[in-house]
Amino acid sequence: MVRADFHTHTTYCDGKDTPRKMVEAAYRKGFTDFGISGHADFSCVEPGFGMSDKALGEYKKELYALREEYAGRMNIYIGIELDALGPIQKAEYAIGSVHCLEKNGEKVVVDDSEEKLKEWVSRLWGGDWYGFAQEYFALEAQVFLRTGCDWVGHFDLLTKFNEGFRHFDERKDAYREPALAAMRRLNEAGLPFEINTGAMSRGHRTKPYPSRFLLKELSAMGGRIMINSDSHSAETIGFAFGQARKLALACGFTWLTVLKPGGGFREIRL
Ligand SMILES: [Zn+2]
Ligand SMILES: [Zn+2]
Repeated sequence: MVRADFHTHTTYCDGKDTPRKMVEAAYRKGFTDFGISGHADFSCVEPGFGMSDKALGEYKKELYALREEYAGRMNIYIGIELDALGPIQKAEYAIGSVHCLEKNGEKVVVDDSEEKLKEWVSRLWGGDWYGFAQEYFALEAQVFLRTGCDWVGHFDLLTKFNEGFRHFDERKDAYREPALAAMRRLNEAGLPFEINTGAMSRGHRTKPYPSRFLLKELSAMGGRIMINSDSHSAETIGFAFGQARKLALACGFTWLTVLKPGGGFREIRL
């Protein structure tokens, strides 16, 4: 049976543990396929954040060695998480994410802190969360065009601090329409969407991204899904994958997309 997780971070970016610790933990937990996806260079927004080209070179070297060491026991994949506003750097696979918007010359980081996001929306959008959501999804819709990514990372990251709809109502058309337009466009480009449990392991949400509503719509569109933890430490690899799987089944999915050794995807029974 395949047990896989392809969205994880290490000390090469903002993760807590080294690649070796992450790989050892994944193997110990019984994973057969494990990918590390360090953040690309994001110095344009936060000086020093993400991997410089030099760090990326060292990262790959270290991961190639770990792949050799684990050959025949666990497949290791070497990825990168690109941002729609960031530079393009190459690895074996790329996750396409939107962490940041540009508004009136300012960079707005969507997943930094609730306080900061509230301040930005109130100052730059006059408190109009739906206007903010519309711009977020307009950029999200371009994530493949801008990054050439292999799949969509945390599609509705803007809801990180919105549990209980405390800032905006995700049932409103003003929210759903731009979200679905972006989803259709990325699905038509053939990209899988990940179910991402990262905000759950960090205590911000009790449910994964994307929301149940969006997953149902994706399923109705014939879309594909992956399940990834976005772990920033060894102990959260595979976090809440049982819950993510149940949610996927409840939304009508029967297949799970995973990477295969040597490149490309394969579909396995959910
Ligand atoms: Zn991310
Ligand atoms: Zn990530």
